Amino acid sequence: AVDLDAILARIRDIPDFPKPGILFKDITPLLADHAALAGTVTGLAAPFRDAGVDRVVGLEARGFIFGAPVALTLGAGFVPARKAGKLPAAVIEQPYDLEYGTATVEVHADAITAGSRVLIVDDVLATGGTGRAAVDLVRKAGGTVVGFSVLMELTALRGRERLSDVEPHALLSV
Ligand code: 5GP
Repeated sequence: AVDLDAILARIRDIPDFPKPGILFKDITPLLADHAALAGTVTGLAAPFRDAGVDRVVGLEARGFIFGAPVALTLGAGFVPARKAGKLPAAVIEQPYDLEYGTATVEVHADAITAGSRVLIVDDVLATGGTGRAAVDLVRKAGGTVVGFSVLMELTALRGRERLSDVEPHALLSV
């Protein structure tokens, strides 16, 4: 079984990052610890072993770190979902609202084909804005979202409510 306490012990709180008033969950101590990293990847993938996943979409940037080994674990390919302007070939894009302004998330148009079974992976679920955009993006591309798997859910921000149609899987809820 995955040692969730050991994983949680390697996520540290950084006050006032990236802005005053924000308490940032820093996962880099977890990444530096082999057992915690391996346990995280196992835990992110476990509920989806028999879900027939053929693409894992990782959300920039920490979703890339976990998404690629989750894809290998599930026998799936990996697709990076990036911020606007980073991907070189033809993209499908999904705009979404931020606290101030808007942002866009993109995937390569040929990376998710009609009928692809897609698992979305990220590190932290906060307000759910990023996850909502990712789900809508995968569907726009013709994929079927079979799940949304995150390391840590910040429950006070109620992102789960915005993703009720996919019922996010979180290893840790704080
Ligand atoms: P949301 O869109 O749910 O508000 O924010 C989630 C996105 O922002 C994720 O891509 C996540 O990587 C990032 N994020 C928001 N807050 C934190 C945090 O405290 N720690 C980390 N590591 N990422 C965060």
